Amino acid sequence: MLLYNSLTRRKDEFKPRFEGKVSMYTCGPTVYHFAHIGNLRTYTMEDVLEKYLKYIGYDVKRVMNITDVGHLTSDGDTGEDKMLKGAKREHKTVLEIAKFYTDAFFADCDALNIAAPEIIEPATNCIPEFIDMVSTLLEKGFAYEAGGNIYFDTSKLEKYYVFNDFKEEDLEVGVRESVSEDTNKRNKADFVLWFTKSKFDDQELKWDSPWGIGYPGWHIECSCIARKHLGEYLDIHCGGVDNAFPHHTNEIAQSESTFGHEWCGYWMHVHHLNTNSGKMSKSKGEFLTVSLLRERGYDPLVYRFFCLQSHYRKNLVFSWENLDNAKIAYNKLVARVATLKPEGDKIDEAAFAEGRARFTDALDNDLNTSLAVTALYDVFKMKTDDATKLALIKDFERVLSLGLIEAAQKLADEKDDAQDTAQDSELVAYITERIEARRQAKAEKNYALADEIRNELSAKGITLIDTKEGTKFTINS
Ligand code: AMP
Ligand code: ZN
Repeated sequence: MLLYNSLTRRKDEFKPRFEGKVSMYTCGPTVYHFAHIGNLRTYTMEDVLEKYLKYIGYDVKRVMNITDVGHLTSDGDTGEDKMLKGAKREHKTVLEIAKFYTDAFFADCDALNIAAPEIIEPATNCIPEFIDMVSTLLEKGFAYEAGGNIYFDTSKLEKYYVFNDFKEEDLEVGVRESVSEDTNKRNKADFVLWFTKSKFDDQELKWDSPWGIGYPGWHIECSCIARKHLGEYLDIHCGGVDNAFPHHTNEIAQSESTFGHEWCGYWMHVHHLNTNSGKMSKSKGEFLTVSLLRERGYDPLVYRFFCLQSHYRKNLVFSWENLDNAKIAYNKLVARVATLKPEGDKIDEAAFAEGRARFTDALDNDLNTSLAVTALYDVFKMKTDDATKLALIKDFERVLSLGLIEAAQKLADEKDDAQDTAQDSELVAYITERIEARRQAKAEKNYALADEIRNELSAKGITLIDTKEGTKFTINS
């Protein structure tokens, strides 16, 4: 499989360290608010990658952190702690906020058929691990104490900007724009590993450490959580493209300085979901959520389909019109799946292999989900039987997870119900008409005809019961 690797800036053949096994780390959410559908684009594509790696036979162990402490409103280590900001906004404790939004995040993932990673680890569970790595970095001379905080010394690295060629001057006007300078830093790019002093002393969650009571920096969390569960080597690390710098750059600095060797060979970055007014972001306060999609009448899986229709390395522009188009296409696709009527489950092996090859060709080429969706459409054009077509769709669904089989079944059930209802009302109309004919026959004293009608209905399993209020009937099932 070829994957674009942000480290080498080209598509590389994906080869994990140990044959058949993949260790995968994906940065998780900062749980101070609902995930917006931009965040969920990243998680959707990571889900597709994990499922595809499994599909082609790898045993994948995937870890995700939950950031419930230490992520400041500016990635440049200044600003308020995001969790604290969320807690203040909702007049709750940080832990209550963390629990509520962690649950909400996984409910959203569930709605989008994003499987939960094998290991999910909140940062607040790993304080000893953070202290351990910070201590090592201090011992090895990669970190220093200043003004009560522990900083990573980026000047000790041969190469710090691994994903790009940032210059410090660019940094001043870019990432650190409008952020006041932290005078404790020896170099502009240095970053905090452990805070004991921040401008926001009312930080709720603090822990004892060799450097005083404080809390971890955001970047150290991922380095340590990955090490805790996956050891000193990682096969692939993923995240949104905004995480490449400074977050992932800092993770690499910390982990490789601690281990003394290369840490992770493949870095996959999912590009952003934008609106016409720019990048969707939680901190802007205005963002679209899964609940809003539902409120507006969209099945969340329509949004998944919308994401899969474009390549993860291209920015994706969200508009309601674009989502409407995806909805129309999705419903048509479901309707086509519902028309497949397999007779038995014997499949045409050659056709199956041919369809599958188109699908794997697409995904083997840097996870081209839009071509994989085309491969799905191509199934309907194939000159083969419905059993094979359905088997192919079920097979692709192991990766795409669009809920097509379930939605098609639901559609077929609804059609059956509608047909049953129509048949029921036809039957009732017929019985009513016969009862009326029998009443008239009796009124005309034509008892022979009245009996004939009773017998005619009885032969159909319909029993007539004469009551004071008129003739009723029962239908034997
Ligand atoms: P956060 O909860 O802010 O830490 O972000 C969670 C994940 O979503 C990270 O991997 C981010 O890089 C990613 N992300 C943030 N904004 C967007 C966006 N507009 N489109 C796609 N991914 C995003
Ligand atoms: Zn991370």
